[in-house]
Amino acid sequence: MAPAQPPPPLAGKKRRIAMMTSGGDSPGMNGATRAVVRYGIERGCEVFCIHEGYEGLVQGGKFIKKMNWSDVRGWLSEGGTLIGTARCMAFYERPGRLKAAKNMVLNGIDALIICGGDGSLTGADKFRAEWPGLLQELVETNELTPEQTEPFKHLNIVGLVGSIDNDMSGTDATIGCYSALSRICEMVDYIEATASSHSRAFVIEVMGRHCGWLALMAGVATGADFVFIPEKPRAENWREEMCRIVAKHREIGKRKTIVIVAEGAHDKDGNKISPDMIKDLLADKNGLALDTRITTLGHVQRGGTACAYDRYLATLQGVEAVNAVLEATPETPTPFIAITENKICRKPLVQAVLDTKEVAKAIEAQDFDKAMGLRDTEFTDVYNSFMTTTATGLDDKMMLPEKKHMRIAIIHVGAPAGGMNAATRAAVAYCLTRGHTPLAIHNGFAGFARHHGDEPIGAVREFDWLEVDGWASKGGSEIGTNRELPSESGMELIASLFKQYNIDGLFIVGGFEGFHALSQLRQAREKYSSLCIPMTMLPATISNNVPGTEYSLGSDTCLNELVRYCDTIKQSASASRRRVFVIESQGGRSGYVATLAGLAVGAVAVYTPEEGINIEMLAADIAHLKQVFREDSGQSRAGRLIIVNEKASKVYSAKLIADMIREEAGGRFESRDSIPGHVQQGGVPSPMDRTRAVRLAIKCIEHLETYEDRQDATILNDPQSCSVIGIKQSKVVFTSMKDVEELETDWPNRRPKNEFWLDLRSTVDSLSGRPVVPRPESPLVGWKAKDTKRGLA
Ligand code: ADP
Repeated sequence: MAPAQPPPPLAGKKRRIAMMTSGGDSPGMNGATRAVVRYGIERGCEVFCIHEGYEGLVQGGKFIKKMNWSDVRGWLSEGGTLIGTARCMAFYERPGRLKAAKNMVLNGIDALIICGGDGSLTGADKFRAEWPGLLQELVETNELTPEQTEPFKHLNIVGLVGSIDNDMSGTDATIGCYSALSRICEMVDYIEATASSHSRAFVIEVMGRHCGWLALMAGVATGADFVFIPEKPRAENWREEMCRIVAKHREIGKRKTIVIVAEGAHDKDGNKISPDMIKDLLADKNGLALDTRITTLGHVQRGGTACAYDRYLATLQGVEAVNAVLEATPETPTPFIAITENKICRKPLVQAVLDTKEVAKAIEAQDFDKAMGLRDTEFTDVYNSFMTTTATGLDDKMMLPEKKHMRIAIIHVGAPAGGMNAATRAAVAYCLTRGHTPLAIHNGFAGFARHHGDEPIGAVREFDWLEVDGWASKGGSEIGTNRELPSESGMELIASLFKQYNIDGLFIVGGFEGFHALSQLRQAREKYSSLCIPMTMLPATISNNVPGTEYSLGSDTCLNELVRYCDTIKQSASASRRRVFVIESQGGRSGYVATLAGLAVGAVAVYTPEEGINIEMLAADIAHLKQVFREDSGQSRAGRLIIVNEKASKVYSAKLIADMIREEAGGRFESRDSIPGHVQQGGVPSPMDRTRAVRLAIKCIEHLETYEDRQDATILNDPQSCSVIGIKQSKVVFTSMKDVEELETDWPNRRPKNEFWLDLRSTVDSLSGRPVVPRPESPLVGWKAKDTKRGLA
């Protein structure tokens, strides 16, 4: 049969892009597909989906489908991968890849975006390297003519890493890993309650053949007693070490024992460590004699819908992948899209694949230092944090000489946020391991000022480790938090209390009020010698509006709650289909939460305080909704969402906006407002907030420790002695409060001057199909939507 003719190339630099998911599925893959399809179309490309991974590429025909804008509607909230994935033996062999190349040419496809694990991306790279040879062979064997292959000389491939294990080198997180971690932590949280009731031990096996990320992070997030990971087996005798730690934890009064083991765990000589071996040891009648059970979590770890982080990671990386295709030249090395701390970037795919393979090789060769070295810095940081928090009171090597011991006060300021307790627990553990005295100040500065002398306990007391040890997964604030500023409590009184309690260092966990409080304390240092101590702050607020960082503890928990809420409410419209929900989000005068939630749920519009709302904008959005419902062919029955920040406008509240939409709809569709309110603070904090809390809190106390030989003058002259820790782009940094206050803070609006996420607004709009609408005149906007024609939401 004569080959079909490839379609002529698209005009200009436009491309025909194919999207494929391959290898093991992971939550978030659908978000990536949706983003590639919609953003690709927005940029004028034609986008195809290859179904069933490489198998579909080899088979061609019905497996390769051209996608329309509305085909991916509602995909953000679906688990697994809707375009299917498969393992494909044929693609390992050249004849299979030859067929794949022919199918690409016949469909006119000149760029491939693949979301998969290291296997899939290795295959992709091989395919690209062979590409010219494959085309030549297709011509030589008369499968294709030289004219047909001519426009396809350069194949562009871009990798997106979809994997629940987080096993790819070069990126901090893979699409799906935080969803899997959330599922594990949810299960461990359930198990803990029963373990504690019966005073039992549980051995929990999680996925990860060559990568201990899930086991380690779950251990940190849940405050497990012991973890086994492939990259770092215990240096000595693991049996003896585990029993010593578990026995110590039981001795101080813990009623439950949780051991988390990665499926690829082994000892330092490479012998597998199985859950049964651990169980036998814990249950040994002549040893710990614990009533021990094993739980193997298995495929639940893969299942379910993606968490908020995976949704916006997949979305932003999908957009970046399309940009990478459009900017590629024949010389550009094949990239994959990574994330380092908070920055999405392109990196060479070949190197990452090689490094990933090196980890497995290093583990096999029992070169564990190398294996750890090849993981990212967060991994090593978290590993060290875990060791610190489980070895409290056991490891003399960490102890400082007595003269270096400090009395470190810990205070929560502002509204409760997920991760505050985990941060406090980690800080206390670290202090105890080093010989410092951690002091709890209860109920913020208000509690400090008014109840410090109360009998019998007072607002200030030394932390009790057994109590704190149970806080890893607790929401709210166990030591109590309060919004009052030191100036309101009375600075003189506060300064005198610092003196009375001999406080050598201060650790604040809190939101914008915490930041404001720290600013006041810093400025009062000139006057009060007792305040000439090192002070640092870890931002914790659901609003994510603290200057000096792009991420605050609690903001991830909040986003997850909001996304869950939106999913549920969207679903509730499925019976009537024609409904718009206007959801009011918290966030103070920062539109971060509203925007990121909008990105994660595919909101048709997001209204922020940075931009404001005016009547023209509302009219344009309502006109758009009318058009959407008129042309809706009903592929997805879920409702549409608008997210409006609580302070976006003094006049246009969620209710008023919903009423206006209903009135204008003239009965053709419905509209309701909905206010999740304090639900957004979250019950149980998300694993990301918990693990980051531990890592950042320990860094804060380490930072305070560097000022052990303090003199008032040294402290006053060192701007870093009063600082805020933050994640800025690709780095974790301490920034001096003076600088942050003076250069980075928009005081009247209680938010950072340059909010890093402002550019994301155009992505929310373009992916939801919002047309270019008139914007309120605001000096803060600094952003104009691109004038492009979009599809319908
Ligand atoms: P993952 O991508 O999750 O690591 P696999 O290792 O199973 O999953 O890879 C998925 C598919 O990618 C394989 O079934 C195969 O079709 C293709 N693939 C993997 N490795 C290679 C390779 N070295 N050469 C060619 N194709 C490969």
